Amino acid sequence: MINPDRLGNLFKDLVHIDSVSKKEGAVAKTLEKIFRSMGAEVVIDGAGPKAGSETGNLIARFQGTISDVEPLLLNAHMDTVQPGEGIKVLFSDGTFSSDGTTVLGADDKSALAVIIETIRVLQENKLSHGPLEVVVTICEEIGLVGAKNLDYSLIKARYGYCVDAADTEGIVTQAPGANRINFKVYGRDAHAGAAPEKGINAIQLASRAISRIRIGRIDEETTANIGMIEGGTATNIVPGLVSVAGEVRSHNPQKLDDETQNIVQSFEQEVSEYREAHPSEDGLPRLEAAVRHDFSVLKVPEDHLVIAMAKEAAARLGRELKTKTSGGGSDANIFFGHGIVAGILGTGMKDVHTVRETIRLDDMVRSAELLLEIIQLHERRSRPLSGGEVHG
Ligand SMILES: [Zn+2]
Repeated sequence: MINPDRLGNLFKDLVHIDSVSKKEGAVAKTLEKIFRSMGAEVVIDGAGPKAGSETGNLIARFQGTISDVEPLLLNAHMDTVQPGEGIKVLFSDGTFSSDGTTVLGADDKSALAVIIETIRVLQENKLSHGPLEVVVTICEEIGLVGAKNLDYSLIKARYGYCVDAADTEGIVTQAPGANRINFKVYGRDAHAGAAPEKGINAIQLASRAISRIRIGRIDEETTANIGMIEGGTATNIVPGLVSVAGEVRSHNPQKLDDETQNIVQSFEQEVSEYREAHPSEDGLPRLEAAVRHDFSVLKVPEDHLVIAMAKEAAARLGRELKTKTSGGGSDANIFFGHGIVAGILGTGMKDVHTVRETIRLDDMVRSAELLLEIIQLHERRSRPLSGGEVHG
């Protein structure tokens, strides 16, 4: 039922519209036109100005043939990474690629093409389905900014699927949460040769703090990293300021917070110990620590309908779908933090974020076939809106 030619052509058309993060205006207009022509109600939310983008997130609502079931969320992002302007699509041996000077943009245009083709097949074959809420985000690639600023009052769906992964035979159900930490360690500058005793070396203080903390893989659920360090002005000046930036990720929210605190405390301790040992009028050294919660943990419960439906849909196609764990964050993490449970499905995209990015048309077809089954199952298995037991 999936029409490979139509799917491939739509993919090509979407990829040919430049849409690097913050410059998604043109692709949003095209998507709006497509969704409206398919009978959807389309809303653009107010995330545009907050994200610094030309457009907000796009929400397309399809009524469905049966309206008394909960809507199902389908999500993809409309932005692509750089170099992503003037993409020329090549197609040979069933595989799409760029000309090698840009990314292809299969991340995540393949998902948009898959979602649209799937809904077209539902409609032209008059297959019964529940309401669908298609949420197409902006600025995913620059820190999930669209999802973070999404107007959640517009979203009725409580569960569904993000389509933004590689593997067509898997569903990502777990991904870590992350915190970002920024430190500014203030020492005191002084001439390194003439009066070093007047100075407080901020670089040394920071490096002592860093050497006290655990970095790398902390345990099977948790990682930590110090990724940037910047400071000092000259070899003959005791550095008065150094900036250090790092992150913690964990699949366990408690460990995420604990490990973040450990790192902050290590810096605080180092600075306060020095201050106590060398009291001064100016109160130096001094620390500024800023912790930013980047994204929440994604942890779809194993017995959740989202997993059951995807596995059953795969089984109906004679396939096996494996649950998978990801090391990175995606829109699904942000949705999860807002009480929307979504697993992440794949389209076959490969080598994303490189100029070698490719995708096989066959894989996109497989992805659409799976989504088609899932949507039909949803209509049968979802909780009726008027009462009934709650799944998952
Ligand atoms: Zn993506």
